[in-house]
Amino acid sequence: MSDQKRVVVAPRGSKLHTKGWIQEAALRMLMNNLDPEVAEQPDQLIVYGGMGKAARNWQAYDQIVTALKELEADETLLIQSGKPVAVFRTHVHSPRVVLANSNLVPAWANWKTFHELDQKGLMMYGQMTAGSWIYIGTQGIVQGTYETFAECSRQHFQGSLKGTITVTAGLGGMGGAQPLAITMNGGVVICIEADESRIKKRVQTGYCDTWVNSLDEAITQAESAKKAGRAESIGLLGNAAEILPEMVNRHYIPDIVTDQTSAHDPLHGYIPVGYSIVQANDLRVKTPELYMTKAKQSMAQHVLAILTMQKQGAIAFDYGNNLRQVAADQGVEEAFRYPGFVPAYIRPQFCEGRGPFRWVALSGEASDIKKIDQKLLEVFSANQGLCNWIKLAQKHIQFQGLPARICWLGYGERAIAGTMINQMVASGELLAPVVIGRDHLDAGSVASPNRETEAMKDGSDAVADWPLLNALVNTAAGASWVSIHHGGGVGMGYSIHAGMVVVADGTVEAGERLNRVLTSDPGMGIVRHADAGYEKAIHAANTNKLNIPFLKG
Ligand code: NAD
Repeated sequence: MSDQKRVVVAPRGSKLHTKGWIQEAALRMLMNNLDPEVAEQPDQLIVYGGMGKAARNWQAYDQIVTALKELEADETLLIQSGKPVAVFRTHVHSPRVVLANSNLVPAWANWKTFHELDQKGLMMYGQMTAGSWIYIGTQGIVQGTYETFAECSRQHFQGSLKGTITVTAGLGGMGGAQPLAITMNGGVVICIEADESRIKKRVQTGYCDTWVNSLDEAITQAESAKKAGRAESIGLLGNAAEILPEMVNRHYIPDIVTDQTSAHDPLHGYIPVGYSIVQANDLRVKTPELYMTKAKQSMAQHVLAILTMQKQGAIAFDYGNNLRQVAADQGVEEAFRYPGFVPAYIRPQFCEGRGPFRWVALSGEASDIKKIDQKLLEVFSANQGLCNWIKLAQKHIQFQGLPARICWLGYGERAIAGTMINQMVASGELLAPVVIGRDHLDAGSVASPNRETEAMKDGSDAVADWPLLNALVNTAAGASWVSIHHGGGVGMGYSIHAGMVVVADGTVEAGERLNRVLTSDPGMGIVRHADAGYEKAIHAANTNKLNIPFLKG
């Protein structure tokens, strides 16, 4: 069978295909990342976020699968940019897999070098959860997107998006969460997307209500929903860099404007104005330099339109794709006049170690996720926000691939949840072990000056020691797999970040690992923000009795 036709789906159930549940979890999560229900372009091993891949190529994928099947409980598999490069004897409490994806020496950390190496088969772009095998489909970002728009509504619209119109673009793996997150907040949204197949996927999976072909139709529908106070999401087939300037020409200014195209990658992530998807694919292959020039020019037009909308009253924020940086490089001087979503809305949560925590049922049974939901509602009954979220998620989110749940939890809460899940596996309440992990976009695991660490209080935006310490401490604490990546979210040269996953297999040892890792990992979020001088983080450190030498004077 040719590689183009390969279909990968993770095994379900309680039968092992490896020598232990941690190896099995890594195997199933690698496969789940490539499940056609989960991945954006599984034929090419692309999971999400431009060209974020799960393995370097199909040969490397097969070698990883074999290595995981043979891996002993006291061995560690090493992955270098999606290729398995070694297995060493370590010990039973160490990670079973460690991964380093897309890392380049700083002076060489640019797309040009990366593409040269990628073309020679020497590297792979890991994005964040793609290369570290803990992507759970669009659900993985939906709560973060929901929280962002909820905070935006609290700051600017009296706590609800009812009666407001948001304009955004990009209905890909992550951007596809926007329409649902906005309607969950009561708002109306026009989501511009250049690729018809992406719009259809979001409509089919319940993330977007409907879609149209013309700006006129989109505006008519949006205005009618706004007037009726109805939450509604409308996909609009088109190019954002064409449609936003057209909106400006018509003096059509939305209440909120943002963007989640894959602008971080000018060659694979952004469609230039004037090109259909087919024409863009052709141009990309034939003349990549010309493609990038045109994409960057379009991005500059895109940002100029956002800036005009902002001047005319729209709330504008950057949604973590480095669009402003490209525009600034193209000479748009005011590109950074609108803020990133982290300093605008999310940082207070990071100060308490809160971030996109998640778990996946290896049984493949939705009933396991339901049981965990139920137990969480009991254990965290005093946490109104958490209970509301679980109920909203149950109502609105369809599973993709292995059933999973996203739930933003902070320091203390994560260890409680992990222990609780492990006990449920041990008692036989759940049908198989559960994988517990998080996005790299988390409280203490990223250095990304145009995103997670934008405008830090002490100016430490570009300090990249923190994600490395995060990976080191999670390795020392015994996470099941740990990864260090470069360039996720915002592209080459702009970020360093770390991931971790820990498996709840119901054993006593797993309980100990979970407790250690789910304490040190969110703890790093508090430490990183306390060091930067955030009062909220210092308060969280003191309340939770974290041992932080620099706070002791
Ligand atoms: P993706 O590559 O799966 O999807 C991008 C989508 O944008 C595609 O569907 C593409 O057709 C569309 N697109 C590209 N150019 C366009 C244009 N000019 N007009 C209209 N549509 C266009 O990527 P994704 O996983 O959805 O991620 C999108 C971006 O968001 C990435 O840059 C990613 O790094 C960033 N991101 C942000 C967050 C966050 O929380 N803010 C989280 C993860 C990723």
